[in-house]
Amino acid sequence: MSAPTYDLGTLHGGLRLPANKSVSTRQPIINAPLPSQLVLPITQHVGDPAQPIIGIGERVLKGQLIAEMTGSLGAPVHASSSGKVIAIEPRPVSRRNGDNAPCIIIECDGKDEAIQAADAMPNFTEISPSSLLRAILQGGIVGLGGAVFPTAQKLMQARTCDIDQLLLNGVECESYISCDDMLMRERAGQVISGAQILMHALEIDKCLIAIESDKPEAIRALGGVLGEMDDSRITLKQVPTIYPSGGEDQLVQLVTNREVPSGGLPSDVGCLVQNVGTAAAIHDWIIDNQPLIARITTITGDGVANPINVRARIGTTIEDVITLAGGYTDRARQLIIGGPMTGKSVTTDRVPLVKSTNCILVSSETPSAEPEMPCIRCGDCASVCPVQLLPQQLFWYACADNEIKLREFGLIDCIECGCCDLVCPSHIPLTVNFRVAKGRIRELADEKARAVRARQRFEARNDRLEREKSERECELRNQKDLAKKAGPSAIAEILKRKQQKNEDDS
Ligand code: SF4
Ligand code: SF4
Repeated sequence: MSAPTYDLGTLHGGLRLPANKSVSTRQPIINAPLPSQLVLPITQHVGDPAQPIIGIGERVLKGQLIAEMTGSLGAPVHASSSGKVIAIEPRPVSRRNGDNAPCIIIECDGKDEAIQAADAMPNFTEISPSSLLRAILQGGIVGLGGAVFPTAQKLMQARTCDIDQLLLNGVECESYISCDDMLMRERAGQVISGAQILMHALEIDKCLIAIESDKPEAIRALGGVLGEMDDSRITLKQVPTIYPSGGEDQLVQLVTNREVPSGGLPSDVGCLVQNVGTAAAIHDWIIDNQPLIARITTITGDGVANPINVRARIGTTIEDVITLAGGYTDRARQLIIGGPMTGKSVTTDRVPLVKSTNCILVSSETPSAEPEMPCIRCGDCASVCPVQLLPQQLFWYACADNEIKLREFGLIDCIECGCCDLVCPSHIPLTVNFRVAKGRIRELADEKARAVRARQRFEARNDRLEREKSERECELRNQKDLAKKAGPSAIAEILKRKQQKNEDDS
């Protein structure tokens, strides 16, 4: 087994946040009972919505494909248990802060009957990497660290670059969240197996599993499995507990000392980053034939009676898992899906747990009521920014809607970590302004791309009309020349043919 190593690159800025994780790691992961109803949004990934392929009233089985992927960044959706499809309709979802989005509703029959899926692939090393990638595409697997980027497409993109290093991200740096810690403690074998599948798909032989030094149980569990497997390609690497060291670019910098260029990807510097939960999900699909229909989620905060980590079916309501955690305490004030820094506050617990739900935080704190004051140019926001941006200047340009300056000052590289908000003595909501400004820039870019496509279509149509016109003129000239040479009988023949053609066309 490789001993954990510590030689590290640098991480700019960041914050040491209170962990608040021990309350939810006191007991093993609890398997949530089957709910009576599953609410499955057709968009649980970054790309286009999946297309439902089942009808209302149809019986479906656990693991059955119920919505197929569309678009280049799509991901399919599978039934999390057996039952009857009772509706395909808009329901509140956390992704839209409790607003409605299209969902498939399954009334569970309690039998949990699984579909006879295609063969599992325990001997995956005998399969070509491209076949393995195609298989991963069918499993509905997306990045479980929160980004929900479809995994197969990320791997395919990485294979077009010069990748030499797989990084498994076990750095769960945001306060309260402990689902990856518990996964690594209890399912270390599946995580390592997932890493081996990923290495084969990428055709590389080097994997670093990055893990924070405050997770000794997980380090022991992973180390133990690695010792048994004796796979020298995989190394554990401990990193300090600093937020946001688990951000993709920050992790690459920290453990490999390679700097991801502005606007670039880790694959630009030879790395592919996958969350440890994603690796375990790949194992579940490739080795055990189970698509992504369940995940581990942390239910925590001083607003729930018994903080836990729960393995629940995708589509279970947040209300159901909070009940499993003993229900709300009388201190509950705010429901956040995700962690305290990057999560979204929602106003209803009738939203479903989805592929991205790593944490449900019920807090006694209400959103900050501190009045916003003018910037005093203290520079604290810049000193904690892990991307080395100048948040105070970005804020001015965001308020002025100055897209050129926002681009120039690197807004697009902001990872929305919230560090600048937390230290700002003037309580300026910097991150939310950056999120909105980034959205506007994306919209403008989309509009420009649409305008370019429309112009290209218009020009292509004009070219075609010009071409057809000149072909017609050329044909007419040829006929005239021919007629001049051949005399009156040929003219009569041409006119006859023309008349025949007109009759056929009409
Ligand atoms: S931390 Fe707040 S007050 Fe200080 S420079 Fe940044 S935006 Fe201005
Ligand atoms: S939210 Fe953006 S600007 Fe603020 S500290 Fe994080 S990366 Fe920097």
